[in-house]
Amino acid sequence: MTADGERRFDVAVIGAGIAGLCATRELAAAGLEVIVLDKARGVGGRMATRRLADAVLDHGAQFFTVRGADFAGLVEAAAAAGRVARWCDGFSRAAGVEGPVVPAADGHARWRGMQAMTDLPKFLAAEVNAGGAEVRTQARVVGVATDGERVRLEIEDAAPLAVRGVVVTTPVPQALDLFAAGGLLTDPAGGIAAEARRRLATVAYDPCFALMLALDRPSCVPAPGGIQFESGPISWLADNHLKGISPRPALTVHASAEFSRTRFDDPPDEVARTLRELAAPWIGSAAVVEQSLQRWKFATPTVVLDAPFVVATAAPPIVCCGDAFAGPKVEGAATSGLAAGRWLGGALACA
Ligand SMILES: Cc1cc2nc3c(=O)[nH]c(=O)nc-3n(C[C@H](O)[C@H](O)[C@H](O)COP(=O)(O)OP(=O)(O)OC[C@H]3O[C@@H](n4cnc5c(N)ncnc54)[C@H](O)[C@@H]3O)c2cc1C
Repeated sequence: MTADGERRFDVAVIGAGIAGLCATRELAAAGLEVIVLDKARGVGGRMATRRLADAVLDHGAQFFTVRGADFAGLVEAAAAAGRVARWCDGFSRAAGVEGPVVPAADGHARWRGMQAMTDLPKFLAAEVNAGGAEVRTQARVVGVATDGERVRLEIEDAAPLAVRGVVVTTPVPQALDLFAAGGLLTDPAGGIAAEARRRLATVAYDPCFALMLALDRPSCVPAPGGIQFESGPISWLADNHLKGISPRPALTVHASAEFSRTRFDDPPDEVARTLRELAAPWIGSAAVVEQSLQRWKFATPTVVLDAPFVVATAAPPIVCCGDAFAGPKVEGAATSGLAAGRWLGGALACA
């Protein structure tokens, strides 16, 4: 506590997506006082769910796979608590949006949240919270700086925070913006080393439009509720009712990377109209009760670094992690967060 009763933190984690929450788990286990800051209203980041009418739609990550032991342990705990479930062993595939679709189970489990994709991050947030970490939402960090001993975070509409170390889990271009705002890209003494800056600057992402459609009756999507399209303007289409999370039939339509890049700045209504027309074979005779379009600027990394995290500055330590490090997707982000949290926990224990 400070003299005026404010809680003091050792570490701040920027981002309450899966990477940030996994890093927090390790930092809290190392006995550190941790605060997680996220600009959004809830936790989960790109593991995102929205409600439209009485439909529930995952509109970022659609499912996750489990390969490594670290992530398997987390998923087992969440499954035992009834927060995640096995969805299926593979989805139907089609060459293009017109079909025809071919069932393509490969025996490898695809997982979903029990009621929504946000269930796993919410489970982790509750767990770290119970362990003493603070998870603060609607807290947008606008600059990251150092004074040689501490890292100083500027937070929109709130007092700044000074901590011994920071984990940054935002998409990398956003992390670089935070460093630039704090002068860390130009300070030759206390700034980010040229090699780390060069590596971070190579990371790139594809954008993705997600169109959400709440329907008045069942769609034409076959069980188990997801179709992967190999080419064309739509890359994925899911029925959230067949998936088991929505009381009402509701489609999530993901545009391909090429469509999303080309149309990124077009009026949202026009983009939504085009995607809805393209998805018509799967909407069938159903009427759209309500719709919404989400534009993900940094949806999935196209360049992934070969390290699980990057140490941007060593003293005081600032470490970057997330799905652009060591492996994309939900599991890659979780594994990266766990590794970054362990490293920083060890570094601060020795300091
Ligand atoms: C459309 C789409 C489909 C996908 N499909 C799949 C899939 O089917 N399977 C799969 O495994 N993966 C999928 N992914 C990828 C997966 O969602 C991500 O790899 C993973 O969720 C990334 O987690 P993260 O913690 O690294 O980053 P994020 O989830 O992006 O978390 C970063 C957090 O930082 C916060 N933040 C950003 N800037 C600030 C700031 N200035 N101050 C405070 N907080 C800030 C954000 O609000 C966010 O919560 C998909 C992603 C998208 C967008």
